[in-house]
Amino acid sequence: MKLQEIKNIDIANKKVFIRCDFNVPVDECQNITDDRRIKSALNTIRYCIDNDCAVIIASHFGRPKNGFEDKFSLKPIAKRLHTLLKQDIKLAPNVICEETIEMASKLQSGEIMLLENMRFEIGETKNDPILSKTLASLADVFINDAFGVSHRAHASVEGIANHFDINHKAAGFLLAKEIKFFYHIVEEPKRPFVSIVGGSKVSGKLEALYNLVPKVDKIIIGGGMAFTFLKALGYEIGNSLVEEELIPEALKIMDEAKNLGVKFYLPIDVVVAETFDAESVAKETTIQEIPKDWIGLDIGSASSLLFSTALQGANTILWNGPMGVYEMDKFAKGSIKLSHAVASSFATTVVGGGDTADLVRRTGDEEDMTFISTGGGASLELMEGKILPGVKALIIEE
Ligand code: AMP
Repeated sequence: MKLQEIKNIDIANKKVFIRCDFNVPVDECQNITDDRRIKSALNTIRYCIDNDCAVIIASHFGRPKNGFEDKFSLKPIAKRLHTLLKQDIKLAPNVICEETIEMASKLQSGEIMLLENMRFEIGETKNDPILSKTLASLADVFINDAFGVSHRAHASVEGIANHFDINHKAAGFLLAKEIKFFYHIVEEPKRPFVSIVGGSKVSGKLEALYNLVPKVDKIIIGGGMAFTFLKALGYEIGNSLVEEELIPEALKIMDEAKNLGVKFYLPIDVVVAETFDAESVAKETTIQEIPKDWIGLDIGSASSLLFSTALQGANTILWNGPMGVYEMDKFAKGSIKLSHAVASSFATTVVGGGDTADLVRRTGDEEDMTFISTGGGASLELMEGKILPGVKALIIEE
């Protein structure tokens, strides 16, 4: 797969439409509490400004329901962009209206204009062809740098790209890095290749498991999803999370791993609690002795040791999903220990998924990971082996 990249097309002096993902968290007073998503788009924006482009930026933000709503306006984002770039940001009054179109047509090279929240237009999430055509008409070149939303066929992500030929559209630096890293890791891994899959449910990761099992040397399962596998093997799992209807799938995955010679690791002990809350009485137990009515909320210390040992000698590690309810300190130890083990390995380490990325930041292991993916849903779809709709239109046909 060859992706068209911004550095390989001629953008000098052009009017460029950049789709970014500025869907940042804000507090009740609309203060941005984490501006990493804005910062990670700066490379592409600066590159366009350095190439004398007139830059039109678009993003979504939150989930507005009925057109323009002040609390979903991109005003705070325009302010933060201004602070970071130290230049004027012209905020459009809406997404598409007469004034916006006029602003875009008058935009000069070196200037930046920010369209209002894409989701103020109901056609955005419906991939409305008229909306995507109108957005495309604002610019000469389309750049997608919104990895976090590239798994969505939305008008400003997918539809718009169809109005540009391959020399006038490309992936921005952030999107290109995410995609190239991921394909390189999964399609040409340095072996042994170990994948760690955790999180709440098997259903959410089923396709990823089917895609990964034939590609990896070892697979490690933790989190709530481990209990469906343990139940499939006949263990009593108390009141732990289980998807009974997926027991046949769990058996099928374990069978496939066995047939392919893939080493399949499940927890051998767990932390169980009487109730699902941070103050509950908790204890560690082997998987053979999970008490009836108790809930498994983390992997135990023997499993942490087992998983760390399984990681030794790995050359590639791909991790998505926590080992337990890491949001509660009592059930975070398994995830924290695994984070340290992954970070201290000599492998190329790729962390995907919003929760796992959040976890490795909290454990202070961020700097020691090779790559942390910025998109939750998008990185999961890559693990599932899918070509993201927002990326498909940027592939160079060979
Ligand atoms: P996911 O979105 O599927 O990656 O799952 C992440 C969520 O799984 C986190 O919010 C964790 O709290 C939750 N989780 C992890 N382990 C368990 C468990 N044993 N029981 C219930 N939820 C869990």
